[in-house]
Formats: sequence, C-alpha cells, structure tokens
Amino acid sequence: MKTAIYPGSFDPVTFGHLDIIMRASKIFDHLTVAVLNNNVKTPLFSVEERVNILKEATKDIPNVSIESFQGLLIDYAREKDIHVSVRGLRAITDFEYELQIAQTNRKLSNGQLDTIFLTTSLEYSYLSSSSVKEIASFHGDISQCVPEFVAKLVYEKYGHSVD
Ligand code: ADP
Repeated sequence: MKTAIYPGSFDPVTFGHLDIIMRASKIFDHLTVAVLNNNVKTPLFSVEERVNILKEATKDIPNVSIESFQGLLIDYAREKDIHVSVRGLRAITDFEYELQIAQTNRKLSNGQLDTIFLTTSLEYSYLSSSSVKEIASFHGDISQCVPEFVAKLVYEKYGHSVD
C-alpha cells in the first residue's frame, strides 16, 4: 500500500490545501494529513481545533486521515512507516524553502523520506493561511479562500459576529 504524509500548519486549512489533499488522495492509497504542533509559531487555532476542522473538511474522502505530531517529521514518518512527504508549491518563492526542507529530510532520514511536490491549481496560487487571517481580521471576505464553516470559525476568533 502506498501511503504519504502531508505535513503543515493548516492554520486554518484553505481551498489550496484541500486541493492538494484531494489530488494526493488520488495518487496514493492512503494520505495522512499531519498537523504540526509547532511551539514557535503562535497559531490562531489550537492543534485540536485544526485537526477537527481538517476532519470535517475531508470527511468525504475515505482514504485520508488527520493526525497531529510534534518534533521532526522524519521521526514521525519513521514511526508510521511512511516514506513519502507531499508538499504544495505555489510560486518560485515557495521553491527555495521547500527544496531545503526536502533535501534536509532526505539527508536526515538516510533516504527513507522523500518529498513529492504538487503544483498549486492556478486559482489557488495566491492563497495562504496568513493572508486569510489578515483579511478576516479586518472582516474582509474570505469566502473564496476557505469552506463556509471554516470562515465562520475564523471570524469568531477575531470577535466578528457571524449570522
Ligand atoms: P507550513 O506552515 O508548514 O508552510 P502550511 O499549512 O502553510 O504549512 O502549508 C502546508 C503545505 O501546503 C506547504 O507545502 C505549502 O506550500 C502548501 N500550500 C499552502 N497553500 C497552498 C496553496 N494555495 N496551493 C498549494 N499549496 C499550498
């Protein structure tokens, strides 16, 4: 069985992430989406909230599971016996950063964890979790960026009333 892991912050999940999840789920027999519990960043949503949001957003894709992890991705992947990491590329600016992570993971895992990249669907190439948060903080329209139930939760975090 070919299994892959899609790690990220997903704070919050966007249509760009969901597009990558949908496409990767068709390439692999199973896809584990892994929410990184990162102590450095101050997230809008807790890890538990992000896991629950992702579960709801992917509930119709049977071969996707949602988990969270702490520490190095290579350690978590080894624990789960997963040898492929999936990442998304939006623009050349993502490439340099992603290339470095991919090469580091391959080196640190002695070739046990490889990375495959899916290029973003053009309509989502501008989308990032941070821009969603910035727009929402000013009560801007994020309906084109995230599912409706996610938009409500994001607005609530910024104290905006939702109907
Ligand atoms: P991180 O904080 O690890 O960068 P993110 O949650 O921002 O995690 O993103 C996880 C992965 O999804 C990264 O590989 C990122 O490039 C990719 N990604 C984010 N937004 C998009 C998008 N709109 N289209 C395609 N890939 C995306």
